Amino acid sequence: MINGEKTLDRPIRWAMIGGGRGSQIGYIHRSSALRDHSFELVAGAFDINPERGKDFGISIGVDPDRCYPDYKTLFAEEAKREDSIEAVSITTPNATHYEICKAALEAGMHVVCEKPLCFKTEEAEELVKLAEAKGLVVGVTYGYSGHQMIEQARQMIIHGDLGEIRLINMQFAHGAYNTAIEKENPAIKWRMNPQFAGPSCVIADVGTHPLFLAEAIIPDFEIDNLMCSRKAFVEERELEDNAFVIMNLKSGAQATMWASAINCGSLHGQKIRIIGSKASIEWWDEHPNQLAYEIEGEPARVLERGAAYLYPEALAEDRISAGHPEGLFDAWSNLYRRFAIAMDLANKGEKANFWFPDIHAGAQGVKWVEKCVESADQGAIWIKY
Ligand code: NAD
Repeated sequence: MINGEKTLDRPIRWAMIGGGRGSQIGYIHRSSALRDHSFELVAGAFDINPERGKDFGISIGVDPDRCYPDYKTLFAEEAKREDSIEAVSITTPNATHYEICKAALEAGMHVVCEKPLCFKTEEAEELVKLAEAKGLVVGVTYGYSGHQMIEQARQMIIHGDLGEIRLINMQFAHGAYNTAIEKENPAIKWRMNPQFAGPSCVIADVGTHPLFLAEAIIPDFEIDNLMCSRKAFVEERELEDNAFVIMNLKSGAQATMWASAINCGSLHGQKIRIIGSKASIEWWDEHPNQLAYEIEGEPARVLERGAAYLYPEALAEDRISAGHPEGLFDAWSNLYRRFAIAMDLANKGEKANFWFPDIHAGAQGVKWVEKCVESADQGAIWIKY
């Protein structure tokens, strides 16, 4: 159980790039990083608009002298200080991640990067090499992977509760972009523009989330080949708002993904169902505290977060007893706590002996998007992974 005691001797000096006023994802980064005293927000380049960014930084308690107009000034000015930042979170639109992440690693900082890490496998490999050479940690915020019921699912697979894994059915299919709302909303506009979003919309924006859940839950989840079909249903969209992917895994299992932004009536719709030879489990992000466990021939069960019958690993990061819901913010806090411990260990020359969405997970997401787009754009052909 996590109860707010300090995890590290002192908090890591931390900055944010992006995540300013009105951004979708900035607050959850701050809320999660600051929750367990693992990080201290001391600087930032919070906004594409420098004045607005400074005003915002001051409003959340950052020293005005450390609210910088852009990330280059942030790294240059902080390098001159004795108490300079040690880690940075990159929460800007997709097209900026590669250059900012590279600059941060070159400046010797640990990084938390939003997905996608970058757009190309070669860029991802370069970042992996750079992080390894410098002994730095890169965490990627596949947020719900930090939820305890994802750990329970992982432990059930490891303990063989489902038998041999045959099928993995994934989806992240919401309905929020069923009309051209990008015309009025700048935060959605960039998601439909390849210049800012990259080669894909929903495959990268939502599909990579359940993909990482599968990778976290199933230790031998390795794709052999895949086939993808993508389509923009709303007129004038350059990028897809719906995609289907079929994957053969090296283990012999098969997996499917439905990524969509036009699933009318669905709020979020991120689900993963794993089917083994004995039983299935299913998790849905709109009810994250429950994990369906269905053994063939027996009445279906629903496992509840915090219950004593769960595996101990799934209870370790509870913050309150069973029956009270824990959700996205708690899952993110668990991840940021793991990032902090991994960064602290790296500073001491040690490696973390626990899993978290790291730079390899980020690179996998980049490769998967690339392969899906390659398949879809050649008429939904099978592509070797
Ligand atoms: P947004 O458009 O709502 O906000 C982007 C913020 O970054 C704004 O404050 C903007 O002013 C600032 N910004 C843009 N360019 C900048 C630059 N060069 N330097 C400094 N600040 C800059 O976007 P969002 O929805 O918050 O998404 C940001 C990133 O987070 C995207 O990569 C997106 O894919 C990712 N995201 C992840 C999750 C998740 O669950 N992990 C959820 C939503 C978004």
